[in-house]
Amino acid sequence: MSVPTTIKDRTARAREVLARCDALARFSEDANSLRRTFLSPPMHNCHAAVAGWLKPLGVSAKMDAAGNIRGVYAGADSVSPRVLIGSHLDTVPNAGKYDGILGVVLAIALLEELDGRRLPFAIEVVGFSEEEGVRFGVPFIGSRALTGRLDPELLERRDRNAISVRDAIQQFGLDDRRIGEAALANDVLAYLEFHIEQGPVLERLGRQLGVVEALVGQTRLTLRFLGRANHSGTTPMDARRDALAAAAEWMVAVELHAKQTPDLVATVGSIEAKPGATNVIPGEVRLSLDVRHRSDEVRTRAVRELTELAEATATKRGLCSQWNTLLEQNAVQLDGFLVGQIEWAIRASGCEPHRMTSGAGHDAMILAEEVPSAMIFLRSPGGISHDPAEAVLLEDVEKAMATGVRLLGQLALSQEFLGRKNRA
Ligand SMILES: [Zn+2]
Repeated sequence: MSVPTTIKDRTARAREVLARCDALARFSEDANSLRRTFLSPPMHNCHAAVAGWLKPLGVSAKMDAAGNIRGVYAGADSVSPRVLIGSHLDTVPNAGKYDGILGVVLAIALLEELDGRRLPFAIEVVGFSEEEGVRFGVPFIGSRALTGRLDPELLERRDRNAISVRDAIQQFGLDDRRIGEAALANDVLAYLEFHIEQGPVLERLGRQLGVVEALVGQTRLTLRFLGRANHSGTTPMDARRDALAAAAEWMVAVELHAKQTPDLVATVGSIEAKPGATNVIPGEVRLSLDVRHRSDEVRTRAVRELTELAEATATKRGLCSQWNTLLEQNAVQLDGFLVGQIEWAIRASGCEPHRMTSGAGHDAMILAEEVPSAMIFLRSPGGISHDPAEAVLLEDVEKAMATGVRLLGQLALSQEFLGRKNRA
């Protein structure tokens, strides 16, 4: 029998988790900041480090054809089903050290915590190759391969250097014809993902850990106000059809509308005025709108109201408006049983859990289409992410590890979990 992990061991291990995140942050495409996009050269070094940490655990890491690094810690017997634990290893430009990466490093630390103990399920650690969508403008290339939804169309997509996803896979030394083999078999009981919250909610509540019940749905669209460009000196104020003034009025109304609708977030993230000169009244403005909510009904209604509002604003000012939907993604509910188990495990680790909705997309959103999935959030100091100031607290990492170990223990004893029917 192995000796149970002492608190002191766990603190040291949590410190090592942070040190490993530091180590992986050195593998970057940019000299003075972290950027590691899908299958970029530094990803080789990142994989080598991950494989090196898995090896002493008896886990041999393998790459699948989508560039995900995967390693299986065997279960009690050779026919054990498996539980996946992972997150992503790619980053945004000028990234922090923890988004995604922490989830992979924590998964390895959990295997170390098991200290050779075998569970009635195998644990597959997964470091996804692509989640952020930076290189090809499409997120989740890694996790899509596990659900068997990395379609040929996506493989032909090209980055700014005209390199296709297929080329990138080949240049990395992988065989794109084997992508189908990356798909999960029907022996997966669950997917678990640890991730920094990337927002201020847990910190505001003074909680260390959160359990994610759902990931918000989102709508993205572009909107245009069409007025009349004219001379800024000779056109009286009552004879103008100023597209930028209309857009400004509408933008403020969008903010107000979101503030008045519980949990709705709406963002105008980009704006372009034409012709864009100091002495010309703007004749055309193009804006983006991003609307998110956990309820698809609330989100859809908000989008309808906001586009109607744009139309009314335009009409009132003698302009017209047009809009075009770019993305429409429904909210994803995570697995209720796992959410309850995580809540229990967080409490047993001495923390008060907080049930929450993720406002960002994550690999769990994709995996949830195929297998019961759940996420644990670690508090983000200052609510900051996608920035070098991104951080995580040592004591929160310790609690996350304690929660993870307890969760695995609970699941190992749960007939309800083990008896779950595998995916069809
Ligand atoms: Zn992430």
